[in-house]
Amino acid sequence: MERSLSTLVILGASGDLTHRLLLPGLGTLLRHHPSRDVKLVGASADELSQDAWAQRVREGLSDGDCHRDRLEQVVNTTQYRQLDVTAPDQLCDFLHELREPGRPIVLYFALPPAVSMKACRALQGCELPEGLRLAIEKPFGSDWDTAHEFNQLLTSLVPEKQVFRVDHYLGKATVLNLIGLRFGNRILEPIWNVANIERVEIIADETLALEGRAGYYDHAGALKDMLQSHLLLVMALIAMEEPARIDELELRDLLVHTLRATVLWGEDPVKASRRARYTAGTINGKEIPDYVDEPGVEPSRNTETLAEVTVEVRNARWTGVPFRLRSGKALGDGFRGIIIKFRPVLHPPTGFRNAPEPNVLAIGLTPETLSLTMVTNAEGDRWDLENTTLYSELGESPIRPYGEILDLILAGDPLLSVRGDMAEECWRILGPVLDAWADNKVPMDEYNAGSTGPSTWNA
Ligand code: NDP
Repeated sequence: MERSLSTLVILGASGDLTHRLLLPGLGTLLRHHPSRDVKLVGASADELSQDAWAQRVREGLSDGDCHRDRLEQVVNTTQYRQLDVTAPDQLCDFLHELREPGRPIVLYFALPPAVSMKACRALQGCELPEGLRLAIEKPFGSDWDTAHEFNQLLTSLVPEKQVFRVDHYLGKATVLNLIGLRFGNRILEPIWNVANIERVEIIADETLALEGRAGYYDHAGALKDMLQSHLLLVMALIAMEEPARIDELELRDLLVHTLRATVLWGEDPVKASRRARYTAGTINGKEIPDYVDEPGVEPSRNTETLAEVTVEVRNARWTGVPFRLRSGKALGDGFRGIIIKFRPVLHPPTGFRNAPEPNVLAIGLTPETLSLTMVTNAEGDRWDLENTTLYSELGESPIRPYGEILDLILAGDPLLSVRGDMAEECWRILGPVLDAWADNKVPMDEYNAGSTGPSTWNA
């Protein structure tokens, strides 16, 4: 098989994302995708020696279980450059040196968001290599205005198809499997609408607390960190119409089409949203302090660690169905997935002692599972009805989400990248909530770390 070789340049190579997610993801990709080949170049402000960088690459790729020969090949050719990416002269010279005929260059911005934007401004003064691809990490902007400004900056540099706004949730096998599940099952698609579905919950709760990430998280909070990007995109995948084919144009058109039809429940940011922050508690035997006492947290920022927003997709298929998006930290349950609750049967069967309960389809994202609750006759007494759950573990993809995302970026296919208009729509939907929270129109509730959320919130 012919190998396609690209130069992958990670700006921010000494950072947490590179070490914990990008390099291991790349390791899984190289192991399972023999035709994908990269020359890896790292750059950051850090004064790292070439050897120290090569060692980090070795560790990161090994973490992703990369085969030894492929690992050595990348380690032996990788380079590191100390660089201020916001300095136009340094960045332009660096980019010039990277040019090799016929080999596309990917600049992966694993940088703090404000630094990414400055680096892109610095690129405006450079002569850019043909076909240059720009991969931008989340959060993409901090509201509609900043996202719009960033979009204009990016498209002044390269065409939109060469911009890859990364959302690693779209690299999760189960998220992409939603398309196959929905459109490949005769029993699902005809009932995938307001006539049959009562509500949809998209939940990404985690047991982890802050884990020393105040520098990022205390500025973002659960709403910007999780709902604005990941969960709205999952919602759009659940609610979108059927793609004629799966390519970047069709899929991203359908996603943005759905996002454009989406509004806050009742168009009221106060009634459609809730927020809370954890107080001291215990998770898996570990003592967790109050969020506001975590190192690096500035209480006056009033950052939420649990966010919930309900939206409605205003079209004939979905009007009247609440889609509740929720994500939080330090929660005892830690469920991540989608719950689809169907409406009760139109006419409950007579002659039974109890009424049937509505069906529930649950799609677990981590771990990847599928369960469908159905009504059956109770064991031992056929005049009782009970719930029976059909359950399957879907099995993890051997390529980690960042590997899937990198695979498409290296192939130059923006299928799983967030298009500029999608990012702006997500901010448009949640903008009124951000404003209402900034004006303190929504109370900041509290929950004990390790609980399932504030006791006043119904489950
Ligand atoms: P870190 O703070 O850990 O790393 C930032 C990197 O940027 C460091 O290598 C730093 O170098 C470098 N850097 C900062 N300023 C400059 C500059 N002027 N010139 C050159 N290099 C510079 O951040 P993360 O790795 O955690 O995050 C990076 C991006 O990825 C962010 O946008 C974040 O939101 C996103 N992200 C992170 C995730 C994570 O789990 N970490 C998950 C999902 C997304 P130095 O150390 O020398 O200053």
